[in-house]
Amino acid sequence: MRKKTRQIHVGDVAIGGDAPIAVQSMTTTYTRDVKSTVAQIHRLQDVGCEIIRVAAPEMEDAMALSEIKKQIDIPLVADVHYDPELALEAIRQGIDKVRINPGNLLRGRESLEQIVRAAKERDVAMRIGVNSGSIDALDKQAQMQRVQVRLREDGTLERSDPAEARRQERDRVAEKMVTRALEYIGWCEELDYHNLDVSLKSSTVLTAIEAYRRFSQRSDYPIHLGITEAGTLVTGAVKSSIGLGLLLAEGIGDTLRVSLSAEPEEEIPVAYEILRSLELRNRGVTFVSCPSCGRVEIDVISVANEVEKRLSKVQTPVHVAVMGCVVNGPGESRDADVGLAGGKGKGVIFRKGKVVRTVPEDQFLDAVLKEVASFLPEREAKLIYPEGGIKEAAGTHRTRDEGMNLPILPRA
Ligand code: SF4
Repeated sequence: MRKKTRQIHVGDVAIGGDAPIAVQSMTTTYTRDVKSTVAQIHRLQDVGCEIIRVAAPEMEDAMALSEIKKQIDIPLVADVHYDPELALEAIRQGIDKVRINPGNLLRGRESLEQIVRAAKERDVAMRIGVNSGSIDALDKQAQMQRVQVRLREDGTLERSDPAEARRQERDRVAEKMVTRALEYIGWCEELDYHNLDVSLKSSTVLTAIEAYRRFSQRSDYPIHLGITEAGTLVTGAVKSSIGLGLLLAEGIGDTLRVSLSAEPEEEIPVAYEILRSLELRNRGVTFVSCPSCGRVEIDVISVANEVEKRLSKVQTPVHVAVMGCVVNGPGESRDADVGLAGGKGKGVIFRKGKVVRTVPEDQFLDAVLKEVASFLPEREAKLIYPEGGIKEAAGTHRTRDEGMNLPILPRA
């Protein structure tokens, strides 16, 4: 059961309340390089990014925002640290939201209030981003505690339970993050500004989970989920899936970003996979494939990877299975909208539970893609089948929500 939060709007995307959990990402280009930034945003949008954040580290970047905004059609968020003038300029440039960490703003509360007044005047939303990495930066006591935790882990201190020491440290940091976030919210509320969501990020998964849980119990502002500096593609995807997945399963979270040391386009499929796995969004392909084993008599791994790649831009909910042999192949394929169950050098294509044909191995990819394309509107079918041959297949058999296993959500 999703925890009820108040709803805000970032451009035309609602966050919180009963709105679908929005997927966002952040560009890696220099924001002042408008052409490259816009191109990256378009690529992100193609794979399903719904809100985009760009860094504004210098005035030249902030000044580029209105031009970027003109050339994209998803909400634009400016990410600002330290200098409130950058946030004020970003707001003047017409952004939809500003992300700040009040804890690192020069002149602290005074600067936050300046930004809040400007945001309020232009109906710009704000994310208060509290990060465990900056929260203790100047805190000598906290540094001492961290040293003590390490010494205990090393066995240098005669304490027998390093796991308990780590838990206490996580609780302490999480509580501090939540306290800070609530304090900053209070400052905004004193100016009658409520157009806020909040993130409590940490690179330590369990600390982030604890902070988000505590915040969720004490506030109804919408929550932006993320595990910060989560790592490379595999490491980051696993950490995010565990951290964000646990919270989402508890009903916590209204928007999310999966942070990866990879091209930002890689973040979006991970985010949707987390949401699809929990049946919170149904956008795009629900993909099932077997890992292959000693029974297999086709190259299932290559087919599965190629099918998934070719379907990466599909937005229509469709369930696809690529399976290696008769052990689990027919069952999984029957449950899918389109399924392939391999045999000896050939495979059976299923459509909505029924066998539609048998094809030789060299035609697997084509057969699966054409069958999937027939479930899609023509625009999307062309995305997966640019070389043509799809016109007769696209959209001929289905309405938009035919046969989907998951509930259809708005904007899915
Ligand atoms: Fe192995 Fe067949 Fe299962 Fe694939 S479906 S893992 S090939 S037994």
